Amino acid sequence: MDKLPLFIDGEFVASRAAGVEVTDPATQEVLCEVPFATGDEVDRAVQGAKATFETWREVPTPERARLMFAYQDVLKKNQEDLALRLCRDTGKTLEDARGEVWRGIEVVEHACSVASLMMGETVENVARGIDTYSLVQPVGVCAGITPFNFPAMVPLWMYPLAIACGNTFVLKPSEQDPTVPNRLMELLAEAGAPDGLVQVVHGGREQVDALLEHPDVRAVSFVGSAPVAKSVYAKAAANGKRVQALAGAKNHIVILPDADKDQAIASLVGATCGAAGQRCMAISAAVLVGAAVDWLPDIKTAMAAVRPGPWDDDDAAYGPQITRAAQSRILGCIERGKVEGADCLLDGSGYAVPGYPDGNWVGPTLFAGVEPGMSIYTEEIFGPVLVTSNVASLNEAIELVNANPYGNGVSIFTSSGGAARRFQREIEVGQVGINIPIPVPLPFFSFTGWKDSFFGDQHVYGKQAVRFYTETKTVTARWFDDTPVADPNMTIKLR
Ligand code: NAD
Repeated sequence: MDKLPLFIDGEFVASRAAGVEVTDPATQEVLCEVPFATGDEVDRAVQGAKATFETWREVPTPERARLMFAYQDVLKKNQEDLALRLCRDTGKTLEDARGEVWRGIEVVEHACSVASLMMGETVENVARGIDTYSLVQPVGVCAGITPFNFPAMVPLWMYPLAIACGNTFVLKPSEQDPTVPNRLMELLAEAGAPDGLVQVVHGGREQVDALLEHPDVRAVSFVGSAPVAKSVYAKAAANGKRVQALAGAKNHIVILPDADKDQAIASLVGATCGAAGQRCMAISAAVLVGAAVDWLPDIKTAMAAVRPGPWDDDDAAYGPQITRAAQSRILGCIERGKVEGADCLLDGSGYAVPGYPDGNWVGPTLFAGVEPGMSIYTEEIFGPVLVTSNVASLNEAIELVNANPYGNGVSIFTSSGGAARRFQREIEVGQVGINIPIPVPLPFFSFTGWKDSFFGDQHVYGKQAVRFYTETKTVTARWFDDTPVADPNMTIKLR
């Protein structure tokens, strides 16, 4: 079985570490082995990135932008190939995989405007004959640690903008589906990137710790589950690094009875089951306000019509869960929900897909009468499982959502502009959809999760990421000039 190489200084190199099997989630066929890089290998990757930084930081900004233009072009030409690789590794449907690659390419497109994004500010004559201006400079070696659910898009959220800003980067992809990041490196080299600009080390917790403890890593971007994000944030900060850590979620949809019923239900079901519920912006809790509770039978019918299947089945709405362990965890959550007294209207446990007896399938699952104290409400299930609660008013819905510790995404479905406006002002969640179920902003904004869904100050992509990957230096300058000015002693008399 092939062991996946690391990517160091522009070459794929075999790791000396032992490998762990990576399996096809629909069949359990072993796809490759992923090595857990040794400490020396992680250090080599960081040292190579550090050495490259010394030359890369001198490359003019427009030339760095040109690399982004070239990379965008190469990625577009390989979009279908990347999508097919994602299908194999993650079990995603082809449509979903294409969408993932496209959302990553959009970040590269945005990175093409790095020159304007890195402009500093100037105030001329802050005192007589003195000007102050700011320079925006790269921070050095940055590291990125990414989750299994978007093995192409989330790395692309990070390193393109980081390198466009003049940094170098070490990526540690998820060990659960690690092959596509290697392919992204081949394409970056094809676009013309110098060796050592982005390095890839594979592994898990130990390799992450090695990066967090490495004195030459200056900034850490992390995306993953909440407990790991919290601990990565704390360790990186304790080691004096800047850090942005994106975490888990419990995203609500609030449905008012004046909403367009068909639109609301179709959006709800798609946002719950799409990508097997393995999206950090998936809807996993529905709050039915007033008479909207009467729509539960229609929600059940719509969810029951959705079925999972292998990626090349055009009729499959979503694929398998990433691993057996993920599947077992979700099935455990469903059992606990029943024991805690929630009403399981649709049970996706034991779901079988003909021809794929070994797939990690979970069918669409719907709970009603869910109370905030139940574990299916408090925990991120990360599967095609929807919990629903009923409340009497919009006020109660806002209170319920605001009491939840997570704050990644939320959505309201209504035909009332007034209700929507109040919701957008009062809701304590960082990404709000109005009649849009998954409000992920495009890269000229930033991905702005709040509360326990994000630890740090500056968010990924957009202007905030440029601030994250750069330092601002202010220069105050005086040049001596003997030419007389009109009235050197003129002052303003302030009242
Ligand atoms: P995970 O936390 O298990 O793993 C994420 C990364 O951290 C992986 O690279 C993994 O190797 C590493 N890791 C795992 N355990 C570690 C530890 N103890 N110490 C240091 N590193 C460790 O997450 P996952 O299961 O791969 O991804 C799914 C999670 O990611 C979900 O919770 C989802 O909500 C979240 N996610 C959030 C966003 C967001 O934008 N907020 C986006 C995508 C995914």
